[in-house]
Amino acid sequence: MSTTAPDPATRFWSPALRGLSAYTPGEQPQGTGWVKLNTNECPYPPSPLALQRMAEAADERLRLYPDPTALALRQTIAAQHGLRPEQVFVGNGSDEVLAHAFMGLLRHGQPVLVPDISYSFYPVYCALYGVPCQPVPLDEHFRVRVADYLQPNSGIVLPNPNAPTGIALPLEDIRWLLARNTGSVLVVDEAYVDFGAESAASLVDEFPHLLVVQTLSKSRGLAGLRVGFALGHVDLIQALTTVKDSFNSYPLDRVALAGAQAALEDEAHTASLTRRIVDSREWLARELTALGFECLPSRANFLLVRHPRHSAPRLQQDLRDRKILVRHFKQPRIAEHLRITVGSQPECEALVAALRELIDPVR
Ligand code: PMP
Repeated sequence: MSTTAPDPATRFWSPALRGLSAYTPGEQPQGTGWVKLNTNECPYPPSPLALQRMAEAADERLRLYPDPTALALRQTIAAQHGLRPEQVFVGNGSDEVLAHAFMGLLRHGQPVLVPDISYSFYPVYCALYGVPCQPVPLDEHFRVRVADYLQPNSGIVLPNPNAPTGIALPLEDIRWLLARNTGSVLVVDEAYVDFGAESAASLVDEFPHLLVVQTLSKSRGLAGLRVGFALGHVDLIQALTTVKDSFNSYPLDRVALAGAQAALEDEAHTASLTRRIVDSREWLARELTALGFECLPSRANFLLVRHPRHSAPRLQQDLRDRKILVRHFKQPRIAEHLRITVGSQPECEALVAALRELIDPVR
């Protein structure tokens, strides 16, 4: 029997942390001149109203703590979804909201079910909170089959649209699963829902075990502000609030509260951002297909693509050499794919021009 000496650097760490491979976000390059299509940010500025309200909020009142209940923001979100403020939780990006959901709602001894190709933070939260994670394979077309989730579980997490595939689930599939899986919470992560998927927010009053999570990072162009929220039954929201209050009683700072509120109020700006991104996505998909790429049908602000004759890591590096960043994942089933964030139309055109040089025409 061999015993390995504990690593002196981690000997004081909790055991769960020692085995943890933390999530690695996409590269945030320094300097200028990059075409950044690797982290699904919005290529357009946030609402001018939000920028103005944030500037106004950054005054001498910063010496005071913000509203610990974020009531005004929760009222705005609730009103937009036909819910009550008690059915809304806000947090520091949807990552934090999801972390609180894993901690407060998904730990009952059984595995948490997630699609095998989905947001790579989910297994990290499972490892951190000591919950087994059970990846459920996508079908041969990279689609989630909800019938595969009818197995013992502590909770189910489905991103809709899925990331990094971009494929959306019809609302009827979510309703079907909610009606059958009634003993645990279904978290629907709607980070990209505004780019063409159907939100499950309309089902919140019908199913007390549904938690819908959204973010202002994508369709509102506010990834830098770190604001996300959850919609659900009061009892689920209370669990998230209990976890949050045990870490930090102030969900958002004063500037973020003001900016988020204005961004949500400025619905015309959000509609214009999403329309431009969806138009560019459809244009980009057509151009990439013409270059020989296979593109999965995306309802998000990114495309997952592969070229039958070009290695994905190689293409990623060649694009990087031209100061264009796209994302590559090492998971075997998508190791020959690239995930490309839909940028502004000129950024998409720069990408297509670079790829035209890199991809030899089909003979
Ligand atoms: N869910 C999914 C599926 C995502 O891709 C992301 C962003 N990378 C998030 C949640 C988190 O977004 P944020 O913390 O910026 O709200």
